Amino acid sequence: MKPNYHYKNVAETYLFSNIAKKVAAYTAANPDKKVLRLGIGDVTLPLAPAVIAAMHEAVDEMGKAESFKGYGPEQGYGFLRESIQSYYARRGVTLAADEIFVSDGAKSDCGNILDIFDKDNAVLVPDPVYPVYVDTNVMAGRNIAYMQATAENGFLPMPDETVKADIIYLCSPNNPTGAAYTKAQLKAWVDFAIANNAVILYDAAYEAFVADGAARSIFEVEGARKCAIELCSFSKTAGFTGTRCGYTVVPCELEFDGMNLRKMWLRRQTTKFNGVSYVVQKGAAAVFSEEGEKQIAQNLAYYRKNAEKIAACMDECGIAYTGGKNSPYIWLQCPCGMTSWEFFDYLLENAQVVGTPGSGFGKNGEGYFRLTAFGSHETTDEACNRIKNLLKK
Ligand code: PLP
Repeated sequence: MKPNYHYKNVAETYLFSNIAKKVAAYTAANPDKKVLRLGIGDVTLPLAPAVIAAMHEAVDEMGKAESFKGYGPEQGYGFLRESIQSYYARRGVTLAADEIFVSDGAKSDCGNILDIFDKDNAVLVPDPVYPVYVDTNVMAGRNIAYMQATAENGFLPMPDETVKADIIYLCSPNNPTGAAYTKAQLKAWVDFAIANNAVILYDAAYEAFVADGAARSIFEVEGARKCAIELCSFSKTAGFTGTRCGYTVVPCELEFDGMNLRKMWLRRQTTKFNGVSYVVQKGAAAVFSEEGEKQIAQNLAYYRKNAEKIAACMDECGIAYTGGKNSPYIWLQCPCGMTSWEFFDYLLENAQVVGTPGSGFGKNGEGYFRLTAFGSHETTDEACNRIKNLLKK
């Protein structure tokens, strides 16, 4: 047996496992210190009451012979795909229900979608970005070219005609920088992809945070149906990080060398996936009910308030930052020329606040740091006070 040697080319542990190890070592050595976590992008508010009610009802259905459900459709129940379809329709985007594939989250789909692409494809990934795009491609033995997301281009790289790309990753609003593409900017990417016979993998996990008119779906852009796949998630929109549900949209028009990507993805999912649990899908559909949408909007407003608090704290400390407007992340420049990990240690040791080192998202993230707005108001306030005490000039 030969193992997959490409695993030698990925870092030994995932970024957040490294952070968890450092924090565990610190708390073991300093049991009296209260550590505040604004690191991992996990939500803290409980599920919305409409979601909970729908899930309870679904559990009761599973307990009765006449409404019990066994295996469901691999690509998701019709009721959920139709609610996702109308969620898009309310924003002016028309999708067919069979272009929507329900999954257990965007992370799995990010990895799984690679099954339908040949190994020999040029992959283009923004730097910095959610590390899963890079790691999943490295595990599959693909070479990656990076597009530079820097302060100079507002962390929104645009197409470069000199770079070959078959698979292009875009993440908007971006994790970690919080930068979000406008429709006009995405149009340039769509035109580029079509001209180069490339496919865009568009990660819209944070679309619900868009507040300033930036694009929420690549399918708002004309031509995107010919070149784009969209990955999305209930995790950040509706607090499903522990409940697990997401979806991927693969338009019928995606044909490459006579092969239809929607049909291939359907074949892949029906072969390797047995669907998301009925109870979870019922909960997910309730996110798009009138009541659910109102409750979710309140949760998003709660997190936005935290983002404002962190942004105000940065202003007071004179620290340059972006994000926090269309995203739950504040992306800040480490003070005094510290590297990302130096600032991580400095903040942990002196303020007991945990953030995420920007260098974990790519080389352009070096010297940057990510704080999340997903904590409680109380934790965020206390963390901001500690940061101010430490860094305010
Ligand atoms: N995509 C991005 C950009 C993310 O930041 C995350 C999680 O942090 C995910 C996808 C994963 O989402 P899910 O919880 O649906 O797997």
